[in-house]
Amino acid sequence: MARIAIGGLQHETNTFAPSLADYPAFEAGGGWPGVQYGPPLFAAVGGANIPAAGAIEALRTAGHELLATAWAAASPSAHVTTEAFERIVGELVGQLKKQLPVDGVYLDLHGAMVTQAIDDGEGEILRRVRATVGDRVPVVASLDLHANVTRAMFERSDAMVAYRSYPHVDMAETGARAARLLNEMLRRGRRLDKAMRTLDYLTGIPSQCSFIDPCKSIYAGVARDVTSTLSFAPGFPMADFPDCGMAVFGYGFDEKKVLSAVDQLHRDVVDAEKDFALELHEADAAVRRARTRGEPGAPVVLADTQDNPGAGGNGDTTGILRSLILQNAQDAVLGLLIDPDAARRAHEAGQGSTLAFHLGGKSKVNGDEPLHGEFTVEKLGEGTFVCTGPMFRGFRMTLGQMALLRSKASPGVRVALASRKCQAADQEMFRHLGVEPRRSRILALKSSVHFRADFEPIAKEVLVVRAPGPALADPAEFKWTRLRKGMRLRPLGPAFQG
Ligand SMILES: [Zn+2]
Repeated sequence: MARIAIGGLQHETNTFAPSLADYPAFEAGGGWPGVQYGPPLFAAVGGANIPAAGAIEALRTAGHELLATAWAAASPSAHVTTEAFERIVGELVGQLKKQLPVDGVYLDLHGAMVTQAIDDGEGEILRRVRATVGDRVPVVASLDLHANVTRAMFERSDAMVAYRSYPHVDMAETGARAARLLNEMLRRGRRLDKAMRTLDYLTGIPSQCSFIDPCKSIYAGVARDVTSTLSFAPGFPMADFPDCGMAVFGYGFDEKKVLSAVDQLHRDVVDAEKDFALELHEADAAVRRARTRGEPGAPVVLADTQDNPGAGGNGDTTGILRSLILQNAQDAVLGLLIDPDAARRAHEAGQGSTLAFHLGGKSKVNGDEPLHGEFTVEKLGEGTFVCTGPMFRGFRMTLGQMALLRSKASPGVRVALASRKCQAADQEMFRHLGVEPRRSRILALKSSVHFRADFEPIAKEVLVVRAPGPALADPAEFKWTRLRKGMRLRPLGPAFQG
């Protein structure tokens, strides 16, 4: 039995997004449990598809004593404030110090956190944890598939293990994989051999989906290797700093095999550059197609990828909603539109009332504005429910006041409002408002890829839509200033000149 410290801090930072992640954002959690200090973190993450939950279960099963430090997550957004970072990491390291000596550390990290002061948030967390426990205590971390993995993160940890599925249906499983690696290190009493390589091109997140090639084949190869624990992190191509990009890395107890497996994986990703296609549809054309092809029982799903709250959007742009109303779409539902003012007004007016709304458009995203119109309040909700889909399984949502509105100008169009940001990746978000998603003809979802886990099985087809939003699907469209020189801004695309 060993004494293992458990902690975590997850944030995916889109440095081009409109809002910062301050301390209240980590208290709210954005679908994740709110910030936790000490032993209550075990119950808070327990039973959900969360990396720490999988790690905790695996380490308990192995008979270890677990010591809680701190755990927190917030919705993806622009930079984490210095105040939030220092307060949470200060607590994590403080709790860790109190519990020394420890035999090992497990951290639940994202890998793409940028703070107001620090480009490499996770590299800094690992530096402080390493300084606290010393060089001889193994430190392992699980990472999101969208991690922008840096050399500092790689050097300061003993092992890092990233998700292998996008949608992230394997978050808890990844935590467990990291825990098993830590356990194996403790059992053998020796360090892992390791290798890491980076890539020279960026890929848009819609084309990183592991249900489709090339990622489907790449991850199949990653899983096939039983000698080395391999990871491919396609990165989060919305963080303007020199380490933004894709990486491959691996660990094992046979140095030669680890090096050759990581080299092979690197070659696979180099060769896949031409295969990362990105088919995007403009909102008007997508709605036109969905109107003719969608039918109750087999809806067409429109993915509003550029306003995905899971990639830094605020979930309040109105591009697709405008097209649905103008084209008088039938049996169409859009969600979740994040607009606490409109949700509060709907609750004040009550179910059945009709009133004028200025929906969304609050983030002042380029090319977007509020949508004015009369809507009938069809259903109200308090935003508290448990998700059931493969990705958000067991997540206890607290999305604040929610409301289902029906457009008076175009009565076939309904909008699901929520007060707190979360991407529309679980059917329960609609059922909470009395909508059975399958019965619609058109579902417009503010999500890039995660929705595919729960919605693709009921969808006739999926169209990825380019409507105004801060999470640009084509990374070449961002105004980059600090990337690594020579980085191609999209597969086979122009290189960053510096
Ligand atoms: Zn991710």
